[in-house]
Amino acid sequence: MIIIMKPSASAQEIAEVEQKLHEYGFQTHPIYGEKKTIIGAIGDKSHLSMNQMLLMSGVENVVPIMRPYKLAGKELQKEPSVINVGGVPIGGKSLAIFAGPCAIESQEQLSQIAKQVKAAGANILRGGAFKPRSSPYSFAGLEEEGLKIMKRAGEENGMPICTEVLDTREVDLVAAYADILQIGARNMQNFKLLREVGKHNKPILLKRGLSSTIEEWLMAAEYIMSEGNEQVILCERGIRTFEPSTRNTFDLSAIPVVKELSHLPIIADPSHAAGTRKYVAPLANGAVAAGADGLMIEVHNCPEKALSDGEQSLTPAEFGDVMLHIDPIAKAIGRSL
Ligand code: PEP
Ligand code: MN
Repeated sequence: MIIIMKPSASAQEIAEVEQKLHEYGFQTHPIYGEKKTIIGAIGDKSHLSMNQMLLMSGVENVVPIMRPYKLAGKELQKEPSVINVGGVPIGGKSLAIFAGPCAIESQEQLSQIAKQVKAAGANILRGGAFKPRSSPYSFAGLEEEGLKIMKRAGEENGMPICTEVLDTREVDLVAAYADILQIGARNMQNFKLLREVGKHNKPILLKRGLSSTIEEWLMAAEYIMSEGNEQVILCERGIRTFEPSTRNTFDLSAIPVVKELSHLPIIADPSHAAGTRKYVAPLANGAVAAGADGLMIEVHNCPEKALSDGEQSLTPAEFGDVMLHIDPIAKAIGRSL
């Protein structure tokens, strides 16, 4: 529920309202405006009704929160969230560009790719140390060794690092190295994992599930946020449809829809949507034009030898071209690289 205090409400009355809510196990999110204070309250209404709150001194009105995603939605926070990761703002005017290989393969590989993508304009390094593979026989990542390699490549190039965590048992380990914890599409509804990363204070990149609706995706964000970690970045990476021409169907409309429903930043991953190198650039252009707050693009120094997702990985030169084309598109809609 949302409790709207009277303009004349005293600090004491506001404190009493908050105290009552806490007594009944509600989380409170007060917004202290110039004229009025509004308190967003999230909890179980079966023991404390809206009517009981309305009777309290200093309360002007109590209204329900209509959307099931209370923290991810816009009812309590209208302004877009800007999440700062090691000096890179995500969700502001400038675009966050995540680039790097699908999987971390060696120090030489990652350090070289990091240097090249940074030179082309990327500001966050991506790469997987724990890989969710469709086949149990495929390369599943270098695990902690990969995290060490990534940390070093990030430091060498002054780039924050984003890497996937697959399992609740590995969250502490990945969080000890990563600047952003990635929850992959396959784990978007792994609620225990969502709760676990919600207990950390590192930003979370939450990819959309393979067959998830936007509401399910925002509810997954809500799981993380309800544990106290409100730094969630959404990532549209394509969804399963009947269309087999691309690996996934890139849902361009998810970008404006999420912008309308949520204050959270949303980036787009054209690589996993396309599944093939040749479609990455047009999808990236479209995503930026549609208002995405950034991109995640797979780049490999030798895609034909990549241990994972080589077909969809760009060479550093191709990535450089994408960046050049994105620049005027970003400017045309009032954004910048
Ligand atoms: C990835 O980013 O390499 C990845 C596995 O992505 P997704 O979870 O979107 O398939
Ligand atoms: Mn990949």
